[in-house]
This record gives sequence, C-alpha cells and structure tokens, in this order.
Amino acid sequence: MNLITQIFIAFLLAIILGIIFNESISVIAPLGDLFLRLIKFIIAPLILSTLVVGVSSTGDPKQLGRIGLKTISYYLLTTAVAIIIGLGVAFLLSPGKGVDVSVSDDTAEVADQQQQSVVDTFLNIIPENPFDALASGNILQIIFFALFIGLAITFVGEKAQPVYRFFDAFAEVMYKITAIIMYVAPIGILGLVAPVIGEYGLSVLLPLLKVILAAVIACILHAVLVYSSAVKIYGKISPLSFFKGISPAALVAFSTASSAGTLPVTLKNTQENLCVPNKISSFVLPLGATINMDGTAIYQGTAVVFIAQFYGLDLSFIQLLTVVVTTVLASIGTAGVPGAGLIMLTMVLSSVNMPVEGIALIAGVDRILDMFRTTLNVVGDASATVVVAGSEKELRVDEPLKDS
Ligand code: ASP
Repeated sequence: MNLITQIFIAFLLAIILGIIFNESISVIAPLGDLFLRLIKFIIAPLILSTLVVGVSSTGDPKQLGRIGLKTISYYLLTTAVAIIIGLGVAFLLSPGKGVDVSVSDDTAEVADQQQQSVVDTFLNIIPENPFDALASGNILQIIFFALFIGLAITFVGEKAQPVYRFFDAFAEVMYKITAIIMYVAPIGILGLVAPVIGEYGLSVLLPLLKVILAAVIACILHAVLVYSSAVKIYGKISPLSFFKGISPAALVAFSTASSAGTLPVTLKNTQENLCVPNKISSFVLPLGATINMDGTAIYQGTAVVFIAQFYGLDLSFIQLLTVVVTTVLASIGTAGVPGAGLIMLTMVLSSVNMPVEGIALIAGVDRILDMFRTTLNVVGDASATVVVAGSEKELRVDEPLKDS
C-alpha cells in the first residue's frame, strides 16, 4: 500500500475513533507526539546540510540572488492575493452576522504577547551564535548560517571540497532518516487527528461553522486559482500532478498544524515527486515555512470580517487596505508553529482599532482553522519551488513525475 493510501486510512480511522470515543481518545495522543518529535528532531540539521549543499552546488552568487528575489516576490504577491480572496469570501458569506458564541477565556495571555519591532526582526536574522540558532531551531538564522557557509565554500574552491563533501554526505543521511520516519507517519497522524476530532463536539463547531467554511472555501479557491495556474505556467506541471505530488506533506501539515514541522516531508516531496532540484527547494522551503503563510493570511482576513460583523462594526476602504498590508506583514512574522496565526491576529486587529478581545470569539476552534491554514501554507511553499525552478529552467522535466 502506498503512503498516501495509508495516510488516508489513518484519517478515516481517526475520524471514526474520535466520534466513537470522544475526549477519551486522547489516550493515543502520545503516538502523535512521537511522530512530531521524530520529524522535529531532524529539522535543524536537515536545513543546514541541504542548504549548504544547495548553495555551494549552485556556485553562482548571481543565480542565488535571482532565486532569492523571485522567491520573495512570489511569496509577497501570493500572500497579498490570499488576503484579498479571504476578505472577499468572508464578505460574501457574512460569517459574523447572527452568531451566538461564548467567549473562551484562555486568550488573555495571547493578547498580551509582545510584538517585535521591524528593525529587530531583520537584525535577528543574523545569529550571534550559530550553534545557538541550531540548538533553538531558529530557521531564519540557520538559513543565514548555511547561506554563508555555502557561499564561502564556492569562493574558497578546491580547498573547501572536504567541507562540501561532508555536508553532502550528511544531507544524504538526513534524507534517509526522513524516509525512515515517514514509515510511522500514518500512526502519528492517527495519534494527532483522533484527539482533535474527539475534543471538538458539534456544539463547539456549529456556531462557528460559517467562519470555518469561509476560511476553507477561500483556501481551496486560492489553491485552485493561484497555485494551479502558477505551476502550470512556470513549471509546465499539470495542477493535478502537483497536488498529488505534494499530498503527503499537505496531510502531515493538516495533522500537525505546523509548517516548520512539516519541512522534512515538504523537502522530500518536492524533490522526489515534483522534480525540483535540491539547490532550489533547500532554500525556498525553509524560507517559506518561516515567512510565507497564505493560509494564515486568508484566516486573518476572514477573522477580521467575522469579528467586525460580530461587533457590528463597519470596515472602511482605508481600514481594509490597512488589513491587507498588516496581514502580509503579520504572515511574514508568523512562526510556522501551531497557533501562531492567532497571536498575529492581534496585530492586525489593533492596526484597524478593532477590539483585540475579538480573538477570543474564534480561539476555541483555532486548532481546526489552523489545520486548514497550515495545509495551504505548505502547499504554497511547494508551489514556489516549482515556479522558481521552472523559471530558472531547473525542473528535471526529463524525469517522469512519480505517483506518490
Ligand atoms: N500553524 C501555522 C503554520 O505552521 C501558522 C499559523 O498559526 O497560522 O504554518
């Protein structure tokens, strides 16, 4: 049985078990934690080694600069489109009119989170201590460290070859570990999804069904309209092959609600199923898991409209424009970990003087919304690898796309 089939069965089983056993199914949560820990433990060494190899095998700083520019432009553009789609669908469905939600009380501390200044955010990309960055799993800092090692290997030339070969072999070992971990993915997904299904009864979901629906519809629209055409135009890949190729990562993203946690699988899928070369995916994906969050942008757009309607506030055109700009910034600042988007929503709400306590209205179902938005975040990152590789004529089109 191939991996996707196994994962689908795990999903079905998770739904059935969740419905039958309700909250008591949380006894199997450790299986999910086991899988999560397994994929998390390779993230830092995997990014470091693959990116060093990617950069040094490019050997051309100009191409690197071009890849960087294209990646960041694609990320910004698609995020801006995502928020517009999110706002549009939310206005059409009016999810906040006539709802009766009780405010959950676990959000006071969320609203208190400190925001970093823009200057600090940029300065923070440079690690004071690269080993600290590796130890704490700070992805942007690891990218910075790896970029420099890779570039320096290229500049040094022959003498640095042993360093290159070390990272090359190390990256292979990390890929192998990823492949081994994927064997337990179905069990992990069962352990992650069943407790979520068991925890959320219909009474929690129903009042907020419209806002969940609005977010999901907008996510689907964005994937179908934006990603499909982007991979078709730049990668000459049929959208169906694209979605099929990235589906294991999408399912892992859905279960874990963490795009950073899904990174090893996303790297594996783009390289093996979508024929993207390592030198592109090893740069585009870790960056995307940190700064590109189209699903989060959609969620924030939908949430702003929902909260405004709930409080009976009208949003002016200027306010909407402010929402678009701050959401793009907020989604860049959102970490690829569960629940991060909810924290950043406070920044968007305060930018248009809306009540920050509004987040309490949807905090109760944040996990569910998070699963959908993270899936789109990851698929968006993957589409960027195809677009950038395609436009650089680096897609290995001679190799047939694999089925799973
Ligand atoms: N969980 C999301 C992710 O990892 C971030 C968010 O909360 O929006 O991509």
